[in-house]
Amino acid sequence: MGAAGTRALLERLIAFDTTSRLSNRALIDFVAAYLGQHGVTARVLPSPDGAKANLFATIGAGESGGVMLSGHTDVVPVDGQEWATDPFALTERQGRLYGRGAADMKSFIAVVLALVPDMARRRLSTPIHIALSYDEEVGCKGVGGLIEQFGAGAPRPRLAIVGEPTEMQVVDAHKSQRGFRTDVTGLEAHSSATHVGVNAVAAAANLIVRLGNMGEDLQAEAMRDPRFDPPYSTVHVGVIHGGTARNIIPRQCHFEWECRGLPGFDSETVLHRFTDEAEREVLAPMRDRHAGAAIATQVVSWVPALAADGDNPAQHLALKLAGSNRTFAVSYTTEAGLFQAAGVPTVICGPGNIREAHRPNEFIELSQIAACEAFLGRMLDHLAG
Ligand SMILES: [Zn+2]
Repeated sequence: MGAAGTRALLERLIAFDTTSRLSNRALIDFVAAYLGQHGVTARVLPSPDGAKANLFATIGAGESGGVMLSGHTDVVPVDGQEWATDPFALTERQGRLYGRGAADMKSFIAVVLALVPDMARRRLSTPIHIALSYDEEVGCKGVGGLIEQFGAGAPRPRLAIVGEPTEMQVVDAHKSQRGFRTDVTGLEAHSSATHVGVNAVAAAANLIVRLGNMGEDLQAEAMRDPRFDPPYSTVHVGVIHGGTARNIIPRQCHFEWECRGLPGFDSETVLHRFTDEAEREVLAPMRDRHAGAAIATQVVSWVPALAADGDNPAQHLALKLAGSNRTFAVSYTTEAGLFQAAGVPTVICGPGNIREAHRPNEFIELSQIAACEAFLGRMLDHLAG
């Protein structure tokens, strides 16, 4: 197969607009049919509402153990981005392939799929599992339904490689990410009657300043890990909405924020400090004036950290295949943390550069695809031998 097969598959995968807000079913059905052509039965695992699906397929002898090659099928939106080419039509220019998902992470999936005929032919004594998820880009929300199947409807892999773009370096650690939404409720009044209303926007501003202080405290904390950039846990506010008109004291305001924690950092401590301060310092004075005032915070997403572990068999295998003895840590989150939390030793290793992800004119170098093909080819030799 080699590069030609990979490229044709990548072209097909990129042509499916699998922006997270849309269904990925057409792509999953295409992959299931492709696997079927090579005698591989795929388990298609629909989302609770049936609009999306994960896919899990096993190739080789024995159902248990084995190596799971994992990728997400969804991509981030192209809305508002200036693209020089059609983001859903694979375009080659000067040694690069352009398209949404080229780096993050349809090239890895294409390389894996192009190797399926080889995998099926090789009579692997150790099985290879292909795991494809949905809704990774919106907080790793889809893969949970697949993980639930480990040791139940599907075999439990012995180890996993997540093919997010690392330029084929072996990544053994990433931060955790906990996303929150805080809703502030005050009391409407004419804007001249500031002594009557309770201003939800002002209260939210106060809360956001407190989150900023917490971020500064984390930066000053002793808990640092120089492998990460930045080497400390972070707090960030990304969205705020509030108020209706300048001359109305706003009743509602909400904001969305997150905490990214070093492995071993418990981001619930940030939530506890926040809700504590919110109740004592912000809500109490609001309630003095209006009993119905409220501040409510909910967790909207949670991805555990991937923690480095010297005994990780996924790391040993990936380093051997990469011909390297060095691992790296990254600050973005992936499904690797969830696999590790489910007891499957995992590393991240895939083609392309994360800098190209999520941007207009996303691309992958052809040399990166070749490097991934070589890596997985060595894996096949290893598992067949
Ligand atoms: Zn990704």
